[in-house]
Amino acid sequence: MSWTGGSFGERAQCVLAPNANMMTLDGTNTWVLREPGARRSVVIDPGPPDESHLDAVAELAGDVGVVLLTHHHLDHSEAARQFAERVGCGVRALDPEYRLGSEGLGGGDVVEVDGLEIRVVSTPGHTADSLSFVLPAEGAVLTGDTVLGRGTTVVAHPDGQLGAYLDSLDRLHGLAAAHEIGTIWPGHGPVIDDALGALDYYIAHRSERLQQVESALAGLGPEGLTAEELPRRVVEIVYADVDQVLWGAAELSVRAQLAYLAQR
Ligand SMILES: [Zn+2]
Repeated sequence: MSWTGGSFGERAQCVLAPNANMMTLDGTNTWVLREPGARRSVVIDPGPPDESHLDAVAELAGDVGVVLLTHHHLDHSEAARQFAERVGCGVRALDPEYRLGSEGLGGGDVVEVDGLEIRVVSTPGHTADSLSFVLPAEGAVLTGDTVLGRGTTVVAHPDGQLGAYLDSLDRLHGLAAAHEIGTIWPGHGPVIDDALGALDYYIAHRSERLQQVESALAGLGPEGLTAEELPRRVVEIVYADVDQVLWGAAELSVRAQLAYLAQR
């Protein structure tokens, strides 16, 4: 199933950036949000510095009130400053290094632009600075890389932490269970119309992988491997079914899992 972006609900348009690869799935989703009839928009994750992509976003976005970042990874943030300067607004992000202007961003904040309300939810784990954005009027949540449109995400150890990630999934699951969110608008891949089902799957997948890592460790035994060799050996066992191109990313997740198990 190919994903090309498009319009969602009454307030969102997704422009797909042309940076598809093994890690970004179809490419980065740049989201343009606007209250119906309002002048100014909000742009989430301008994406990579590709002229044709930024032109398309600028055209849809018109007057932009603010640019928000879900997290600092370059496929989301690299063009943020350049785009914000072009349209004359600031960039708000949790990490001060990625901001333009004085305004920060964090869990519990409410961003309001011309009647559009965005509630910021702290969702660390994929990275330490990962945020999600709830649009109450749409019952939607923009999750960046915390939840993807297909497959599962990487806990980018050591910046990303599994304990924090599991807490973040629980936080989002709570919002879905309370019917505050029904649909997920991710940072990569297609929108998900069953937020609760997707979060159930993500939580089950994480605990399954954790059990697989524990039994791999038991199988490897206590001896013979250095701390450097161990994560790779675990990847070879636990991620045997996954394309080897992804083993580098899988190793980050395994390092996160080993750190989590060591703390438990
Ligand atoms: Zn990404």
